[in-house]
Amino acid sequence: MWLLIAFLLLLAATVAILAPFFRAATSAAPDVDVDPTLLALYNRRDQLYQAIREAKFDLDTGKLSPEDYERHVANLKRQAASVLKAIDRRQAALATAELDAQVEEMVRQERKSRPAFSAQPAMATLSASAGATGTSAARYCPQCGARVQAKDRFCPACGARLL
Ligand SMILES: [Zn+2]
Repeated sequence: MWLLIAFLLLLAATVAILAPFFRAATSAAPDVDVDPTLLALYNRRDQLYQAIREAKFDLDTGKLSPEDYERHVANLKRQAASVLKAIDRRQAALATAELDAQVEEMVRQERKSRPAFSAQPAMATLSASAGATGTSAARYCPQCGARVQAKDRFCPACGARLL
């Protein structure tokens, strides 16, 4: 139980930290505040709390016997407990879904901001070592990453001038 709570807190903190970076992205993610399932659960919980207060009032005014009151309230509390558990589960599911959406958006942004090749440093090392040895080691276009021949002065794939 405590582990679950710790996990949820961590999740909430992560979402809070990431949120400012993904303002645009979060609009597409499910919103915890307007989730209809969660709202229904909140309503149900409030109804049960209200029913418990009313039972206490009925006990005080003599409309309910102490035995009936005990039985009735025990039943209401059981229901409230299961509603609270459902709220926890729903909140966790929404937080996970929101986090997933943010991670997806992060990956999408990353891909967009990075032109074609993410292995450019490795490529630079490769062509540098090829230059050093002066052999016909593999060469790659710095523009599009296509493999080119040592004799090529222009990339056959994109036409970029090769060094
Ligand atoms: Zn090229």
